Amino acid sequence: PEAYQAFVTLATTDPYCMGSLVVGKCLRRHGTTRKLVAMVSPNISTEARLSLEDVFDEVIVVDMLDSRDRAHLFWLGRPDLGITFTKLHCWTLTQYTKCVFLDADTLVLCNVDELFDREELSAAPDPGWPDCFNSGVFVFRPSLETHSRLLEHAKMCGSFDGGDQGLLNTFFSDWAIKDINKHLPFIYNLSANAIYTYLPAFHKYGHQAKIVHFLGRYKPWHIPNKQQPPTDAPQWDTNRNLDKYVDQWWAEYYGHTKMHAD
Ligand code: UDP
Ligand code: MN
Repeated sequence: PEAYQAFVTLATTDPYCMGSLVVGKCLRRHGTTRKLVAMVSPNISTEARLSLEDVFDEVIVVDMLDSRDRAHLFWLGRPDLGITFTKLHCWTLTQYTKCVFLDADTLVLCNVDELFDREELSAAPDPGWPDCFNSGVFVFRPSLETHSRLLEHAKMCGSFDGGDQGLLNTFFSDWAIKDINKHLPFIYNLSANAIYTYLPAFHKYGHQAKIVHFLGRYKPWHIPNKQQPPTDAPQWDTNRNLDKYVDQWWAEYYGHTKMHAD
């Protein structure tokens, strides 16, 4: 069954492709036995696509404007949900029986293949509203039927936050209370902002982190030089803990294979 399991990520722009590349590189470096799939939109550059093809087993072009696309008609009615629908495409990857989706702005710190022991839909709590799961890291089972139901749900209900997280939370609406096994520990989706909203917890548990999520407006690829953070992003110049992960992200991006012990 391992041959039919995959990590899946998504990028619709060249900067997000930098993120996807890092996701693939760190999964490889930590010795995953699963396949790696990058979903991309047709507008990304040839260079970005080729760099992803070096690392991923499959780079799948997902075209929202392709009339053969089952999502097309739904999308025409809800253009606001464009990237969300692109993310939902992961349910059409039926060549795999089970997958783990990782946002392009995640950094995998160790082997996390044990995530495939979990069932759909497993995810970690969102730091802003812990009865919702964060959709940056989740375990799912590709299924055309589920995909159709998700599109139908999107058309009928929309998304309360305008993105995939709102949509997925109202679809998998019993996540909060039904089955504790579907609650991934927070260390599988450690939101960068949790580092400064609950610093003592980060000091106690942060060393156990397995996946860091650079959730929010500022992504590591916006910060090529940590000495020159964007002036309107105060967390970057005050938070050494976060700096460490940004440095590690760039080390992965440039292909350093040395593990950082600190
Ligand atoms: N994404 C993308 N292009 C965009 C915005 C988002 O490809 O313009 C994908 C990418 O995989 C990204 C995910 O959708 O990681 C969710 O968006 P983001 O991570 O920016 O949201 P956040 O986690 O900050 O809420
Ligand atoms: Mn994200």
